[in-house]
Amino acid sequence: MPRLQGRTALITGASRGIGEAIALRFAAEGCDVAANYLAEPGRDNAAEAARVAQQIESLGCRALCVEADVTDLASVQQMAAQVIETFGHLDILVNNAGITRDRTLKKLEKPDWDAVLAVNLTGVYHCTHAVIEHMREHEYGRIISIASVVGQTGNLGQTNYAASKAGVIGFTKALAREVARRGITVNAIAPGFIDTEMTQAMPDEARAAVLATIPIGRLGEPAHVADAALFLASDEAAYITGHVLNVNGGLYM
Ligand code: NAP
Repeated sequence: MPRLQGRTALITGASRGIGEAIALRFAAEGCDVAANYLAEPGRDNAAEAARVAQQIESLGCRALCVEADVTDLASVQQMAAQVIETFGHLDILVNNAGITRDRTLKKLEKPDWDAVLAVNLTGVYHCTHAVIEHMREHEYGRIISIASVVGQTGNLGQTNYAASKAGVIGFTKALAREVARRGITVNAIAPGFIDTEMTQAMPDEARAAVLATIPIGRLGEPAHVADAALFLASDEAAYITGHVLNVNGGLYM
């Protein structure tokens, strides 16, 4: 029996990277998936999301592409309503959308602070707030947010990113307590360094320095994070809430 048969999920930032891997992993286990993407100048993210949707459908599940900027509450509310109307119910939210704007604090200007907090932390609030009442009414829900090892350890040049991801961990634990008796679990995943566009953007020396600190000796794959998300979304994780699941090759223990 597929592990997410009959379930539906909304995954933010699902047109590439970790979000795409989670979308396909869920669909491979029978889950209908709404793949959120952001329309950005200079990138055909709609086409990327459509490609992911096609793969979801080829796995025998329903797929929906939904454009929304997670920093914009109105567009997030519209997205949530569209997903619930299309699928009839929403069981799983994966808060995956995230950005970096790395600078040492000395050079970190307010727009780069604000942008990272807006996507990585306020975006989690917007998306979760937009679906929590629905999940409470159905007395079922799985909320999984992608934090980061950087939110646990800090990292040079990432005060904005580390603060946002530490915020996601605090948000997760607080909400887990609020909704535990309503059949809703709330967990976070803290990936280490995963091979996606986000880490491909790092300078070579920085990548090499990171690699040298990972006990397992290699970067993680998006599939490693997707497997962790599948576990937290599955019935096997029914008694796990407020947890931060490390997927980091031993980088932080
Ligand atoms: P990625 O390849 O850069 O993908 C980021 C995703 O976020 C994209 O799908 C992008 O959408 C979406 N996004 C960005 N701003 C958005 C907005 N305002 N509204 C909606 N979607 C938005 O990064 P990734 O490595 O897969 O990262 C996924 C998550 O894992 C992030 O939260 C990241 O912080 C976290 N993480 C990554 C690593 C790593 O090493 N890669 C480690 C720890 C944690 P479009 O494609 O539509 O632009």
